[in-house]
Amino acid sequence: MASLKLNHIYKVYPNGAKAVNDFCMDIEDKEFIVFVGPSGCGKSTTLRMIAGLEEITAGELMIGDSVVNDVEPMHRDIAMVFQNYALYPHMTVYENMAFGLKLRKMPKEEVDRRVNEAAEILGITEYLQRKPAAMSGGQRQRVALGRAIVREPKVFLLDEPLSNLDAKLRNTMRSEISKLHNKLQTTFVYVTHDQVEAMTMGTRIVVMKDGFVQQIDTPRNLYRYPVNKFVAGFIGTPQMNFYTGKLKAEGDNVRVTFDNTEVNMLAPAEYFAKADVRYLNGEKPVVFGIRLEHVSVDPEKYPYKAKCRVSYVEDLGVDGQVYADFDLNSEDTITESATKVIIKAPENAFYRAGEIIDVSMDLSHLHLFDAETEKTIAPRIPEEAIVYGTVKGGKLSVLGTQLVLPSAISAADGEYEIHIPTAALSFGGNIKAEFVKEEDVNGQRLVQMNAGGKMLFMYADQSSVLTKGVAVDLKQCSFVMDGAEAVSPLPAENELSGKILISKQKKEITAENGAVKKVKQKVYSLEISGKSFVCPEAVGEKIVNCGKKIFNGVLAVRFSPYCVNCGAEGIPAHVTNILDYGNEKFAECTVREITAPRTDKKKKSAEEAEAFIERKIYVAVGSGFNDTEVTLVPELEKVKIYGREQDIRII
Ligand code: ADP
Repeated sequence: MASLKLNHIYKVYPNGAKAVNDFCMDIEDKEFIVFVGPSGCGKSTTLRMIAGLEEITAGELMIGDSVVNDVEPMHRDIAMVFQNYALYPHMTVYENMAFGLKLRKMPKEEVDRRVNEAAEILGITEYLQRKPAAMSGGQRQRVALGRAIVREPKVFLLDEPLSNLDAKLRNTMRSEISKLHNKLQTTFVYVTHDQVEAMTMGTRIVVMKDGFVQQIDTPRNLYRYPVNKFVAGFIGTPQMNFYTGKLKAEGDNVRVTFDNTEVNMLAPAEYFAKADVRYLNGEKPVVFGIRLEHVSVDPEKYPYKAKCRVSYVEDLGVDGQVYADFDLNSEDTITESATKVIIKAPENAFYRAGEIIDVSMDLSHLHLFDAETEKTIAPRIPEEAIVYGTVKGGKLSVLGTQLVLPSAISAADGEYEIHIPTAALSFGGNIKAEFVKEEDVNGQRLVQMNAGGKMLFMYADQSSVLTKGVAVDLKQCSFVMDGAEAVSPLPAENELSGKILISKQKKEITAENGAVKKVKQKVYSLEISGKSFVCPEAVGEKIVNCGKKIFNGVLAVRFSPYCVNCGAEGIPAHVTNILDYGNEKFAECTVREITAPRTDKKKKSAEEAEAFIERKIYVAVGSGFNDTEVTLVPELEKVKIYGREQDIRII
């Protein structure tokens, strides 16, 4: 039994193929995690890195409380089951299952106990003396599972274990593996390209595409709240219906139109409370998604009606599926059409091809995506609220309240579109708002407030007092006028160039018998913008563990304005501005970084010596700060380090 932690895991194959990018996940003890995605998306590579069969390029892998990046597969306390069973043909089932234990020199009685117990669990006791050749595919897969069970591992890894079996057997084995997980009460990580397998077995599912994690969630949440069009289309059969179209706010309603059809519906604005308002102007293209169970052949079922032209009906016995098209002039829709619709129909549904029927849609389940990025434009936790405000004489009128702008925000008089990140909103300010409702989003409490007719979504923890006053952290906000950003938020992160330096230092160690021994010890330093800092031991170790392959290159060192101090012996910086936000003050500094390659110092030409870039750095400072020249000391325990060339996070 164990938990697993994948911390910014990357895999770059020697040929340069970046198979896995920044995989982060905490897997709890006893979870059944499924990695799913189309072929080549990186799921097997990730599983093999957990198993120790593939080297981790960067990142930290923990099983239980230990970092196991450099631990041999056999010492990781995991067992892996492969698609092709990998049984020894000349051994009996018993011998196949016992083989690994005997290699570990386990006493015979213990081997016997474990094999018999596993055979009992899997229902293969009567086959123990058979050879694999005399068994069916399903039975062989059970033996392969048995061989993993006898090891009593902390984690089970299964790589497409059912894809060699026929459809019926796959169904049976699917439920058997789920039962096995229940019985063993161990962590399972399971790889498949089959979304039905993923949805029926996983407690949580990781959907991957092109080496990137798209979404990690429960089957129910993936189905209901896909974060992008890819996940929406990948999960669920038949696939969700997709259309391009427009949204237009009209008073308390929003008009929904699908391109190249007569579909034109008016739905309550509350259905679109989380939608990015920039898409509600009737101009910006939107991709709509609606699942077939949310379209009905009963025109009275929902108040949002449309007409479509039937192409054909599939009778599945208990119910059926109607294939139709919202484009009433369309020819046949057996071929792909951007306006086709699949509708779940009752058992006795009968329609002629070409018939035009009235349908209704449940628009409370309409999914919205950006036409280019394909990301949802109405996430469960909105990233930001976009509100409209007016600046006049250093005062901002917004959300029905007037706020005095701090001197750090110099906005000329005029109308602005203000982007307020969800994290910049908190309770206890002087913007008046009414509580609307609250929901739990994967353990995060999200509260909806109405401030002067505008819906605001706010994080709240259990201790939050839902006062009627809302505060905005203006340093996180962006002011946009005529499509251009007039006031930028304070950057959340600074970046400087870095390099790891390793040196050896002699250290005296006193042994138990009192003898003093001198040993050489590696000392890691991080050179940031030409200034070297000795790393705390934990940081040095982490860099070595997590980024062996990368730390020789040029690194990007990133840190928040709160994780850098003005101290002695730091990076020289010139203060160009002091940003006063009222309750907080930040120094805007420039740091000069020499960019010329430091090859042969003697021959370095004058031009090379002068090649540099200036980087802007923001530092939180005290209220009395007034300096013009400072030296900066980043807090090394808190910096993030990236391989700049491959954009790989090391720590
Ligand atoms: P999946 O299991 O999702 O089908 P893989 O993890 O096997 O995907 O592969 C992910 C990507 O890495 C693919 O683009 C694949 O071509 C590439 N890849 C896999 N193994 C190697 C290898 N040994 N050398 C180079 N590229 C590889």
